[in-house]
Amino acid sequence: MTLLEKFRTKENVQNVLSKIGDNVSQDWAIMEICGGQTHAIMQSGLHDLLPDEIELIHGPGCPVCVTSLELVDKAISIASRDNVIFTSYGDMLRVPGSERDLFSVRASGGDVRVVYSSLEALRIARDYPEKEVVFFGIGFETTAPANAISVVKAKENNIKNYSMLVSQVRVPPAMRAILGSELNRIQGFLAAGHVCAVMGYWEYEPIAEEYRTPITVTGFEPLDICYGILETVKMLESGRSEVVNAYPRVVTREGNQPAQKFIENAYEPCDRQWRGIGMIPMSGWKLNNQYEEFDAERRFGVENINTKESDICISGLILQGLKKPDECPAFGTLCTPQNPLGATMVSSEGACSAYYHYGSGRK
Ligand code: SF4
Repeated sequence: MTLLEKFRTKENVQNVLSKIGDNVSQDWAIMEICGGQTHAIMQSGLHDLLPDEIELIHGPGCPVCVTSLELVDKAISIASRDNVIFTSYGDMLRVPGSERDLFSVRASGGDVRVVYSSLEALRIARDYPEKEVVFFGIGFETTAPANAISVVKAKENNIKNYSMLVSQVRVPPAMRAILGSELNRIQGFLAAGHVCAVMGYWEYEPIAEEYRTPITVTGFEPLDICYGILETVKMLESGRSEVVNAYPRVVTREGNQPAQKFIENAYEPCDRQWRGIGMIPMSGWKLNNQYEEFDAERRFGVENINTKESDICISGLILQGLKKPDECPAFGTLCTPQNPLGATMVSSEGACSAYYHYGSGRK
């Protein structure tokens, strides 16, 4: 048996599911923040196996989904220029902008390339010194250190034709925004294990205390998710608002401190727009003074962008946990992975995509 197989074994999962059943006595609404966890829940069928009292609400933790429409339109504007090679993680190419997507820029002759890391983009900049090479730096705390490395290396190696369109976002301010909303009905959170592997979970302790909401650091295998739910239910049932680490094989309270130093060195916190949600104060990072020469927004002067969101798509409500994907009238008809109207149907971490691929099974 491999290390991960025991976290997928039916008997082990059923054992924890029955413990959840033993501990739950009333209805609870729990949000899994991360889109990767949403996919794992849908793929493994956990949403159908949990006791009826547990409602899982899908959170905004999909970096492709929350990248603002304005930044997508800026990416399209930059990528359309003759002297630019625009590089991005693959999912971003199909995300609808106001009028088109990055794929259509490529189809009409733009040099838009899929890369697997920011350092691959930097290598392209080295190989094509006559071109401006731009990397679309999206993501949560998980990608922030690796994306930062490219601008640090660009500065060290005096690579002037490289820049990054920055869309880094942070989980804790989003949790505060959700809990502070008058529409909120989240009573407990499953925090994303990979984000906590980088940042630790010390940032969550004041949130749990201030909003009286238990938070459980949770992994991605079916057994991890069941453990996360079990720990959250135990806290809810006993009235405790703490942070519990149910993913100790990967996460420590302090997290990966060298990675956090990389973030501190290259970025500074900023307000950021989240697609479908709006501006969340101090929920992003931008390049700091030391590295602002590599900021693509400054280099290409794309300040005045007029955006137009789809009239049909309700992904904003889904990302806030206020609606489920199959409550969207376009789900599976006008909107499919082949013809996405919103980013949540595009991304491999999007809730609409998870419902489409694994069945809605709404709880
Ligand atoms: S199904 Fe499509 S249109 Fe509806 S919310 Fe999801 S992405 Fe938007």
